[in-house]
Amino acid sequence: MNKPNPYSSVMQIAARPDIVFVSGRGGWLVDDQDRKYLDFIQGWAVNCLGHCPTQVTQAVSKQVNTLINASPAFYNNVMLNLADSLVRHSCLHQVFFANSGAEANEGAIKLARKWGQLHKGGANKIITFNNAFHGRTLATMSASAKAQFEPLFEPKVSGFTKVPFNDLSALQQAIDPMTVAIMLEPIQGEAGVIPAQLEFIAGVRQLCDQYDLLLILDEIQTGIGRTGSLFAYQQYAIEPDILTLGKGIAGGLPLAALLAKDKFCCFAHGDQGGTFNGNPLVSAAGQAVLDTVADAEFLAQVQHLSDYLREGLMQLSTSFNLGEVRGSGLLLALETGSLDATDIVRQALQKQLLLNAPRPHTLRFMPALNVSEQEISEMLKTLAAILGSLVTAKS
Ligand SMILES: *Cc1c(COP(=O)(O)O)cnc(C)c1O
Repeated sequence: MNKPNPYSSVMQIAARPDIVFVSGRGGWLVDDQDRKYLDFIQGWAVNCLGHCPTQVTQAVSKQVNTLINASPAFYNNVMLNLADSLVRHSCLHQVFFANSGAEANEGAIKLARKWGQLHKGGANKIITFNNAFHGRTLATMSASAKAQFEPLFEPKVSGFTKVPFNDLSALQQAIDPMTVAIMLEPIQGEAGVIPAQLEFIAGVRQLCDQYDLLLILDEIQTGIGRTGSLFAYQQYAIEPDILTLGKGIAGGLPLAALLAKDKFCCFAHGDQGGTFNGNPLVSAAGQAVLDTVADAEFLAQVQHLSDYLREGLMQLSTSFNLGEVRGSGLLLALETGSLDATDIVRQALQKQLLLNAPRPHTLRFMPALNVSEQEISEMLKTLAAILGSLVTAKS
C-alpha cells in the first residue's frame, strides 16, 4: 500500500521540498529528522534577527501574558509606542499598521487614490515599474509587473501604468493629468536585486514635485536595516511621501506598516481598518526589533557584514567566471552566468544550506542582519564546493 501523502491537507501553492521544519535558532533551522540547515533565506528576509531571537521572544512572552488584542476600535499602549518610534526614526508623520506587506501596499494605493479624489481632481492612476513586486492581493498584483502574474486572475484592478525601471524619460512620458502617484522599490528584490540608480530616484522625486504626485516607496524588503541604513531612502537623500514596511519589521511575526506625511493622511473614519491591525502582541515584537536595529552600532555592523559577504561573493565570481555582485547591506545578489541558479539552490539544500534564486541565473542572499562572519564563511565554502562541481562537470 502507498504511504498516505502527509501534506494532503495543505493547499498546494508552491513546490515545497520534502522537509518539515520544527525549530530554529539564530542562523539555523532544524527539521523533524534533527538535521541542521544554515539559513540564508530567513523566512524571505523576515527573521531580521535570526530564528527565535531573545529580544523578540522575551517581548512577546511578556506581552502575551499582558494583552493580546484590545480591538482595533481602541488605542493600546504598545501600538502607540511603536508608531511614535517609527515616526521618530523616519521622515514620515503617521502610521497605519497592517498584517502583511501586501495589505500595507493596498493601504498606500487607497491613500493615494483618496488624496487624488480630494485634492487632484479625481486623479487615480499610479505609475509602477517593469518587474516590480508589490504583493499578492488583486490590487497589489495589478501594481506588480511580474511576467508570471500577467495572465492570472483577470480582470486585474485597473489604474496602473508600467514603465521601465531606471528610465526617467519613459517615466515622464507616462505622466498624464489622471496620474496621482509613482510607486517603486528602492531595490527591486523579487526581480533579482536591481537597485534604483541614485540619479533615477532623485529624478523621480523631482517629477513628483513638478507634477504634484505622491512618491510611494515600497520598502517592505529594503526597510528596517536590510540595506545597512534603517531605511533605504536615507541612502538616496530624498524623502518619500508614503512609505510601506513589512518583512523584517517584527522579526518574523506578521506585521507591516504604512507611513505617510501629515498632509497626505486623508483617510476618513471607516475608509481603512482591519481586525488584527495594531494588535499589541505583534507590535511588541516590532518594538523589540526596532529598538535593536535602529541602533547606529548595529547598522554599522550590518555594513561590515555586507562588505564581508560581498567580498566573498566577488571572489567566487572571479574564481568561477560568474557575473555581477550587486545590492546593498544584506540584500545581495550574485549573477551565476551560464549556470542554472535553481539547480544551485537545489544542490545547496542537499548540503543543508538554504539559498534563493529569484531569477534563473541569479542567487539572492538575505541572511539575518546579525549573521556571523563564521556563518557567512561556511555558506561561501558550501557554495564554492557546489560551483566547483558544476564548473568541472561542464568542462
Ligand atoms: C514581500 C514583499 C511584498 C509583499 O509582502 P507580503 O507580506 O508577502 O504581503 C511587497 N513588496 C515587496 C517589495 C516585497 O518584497
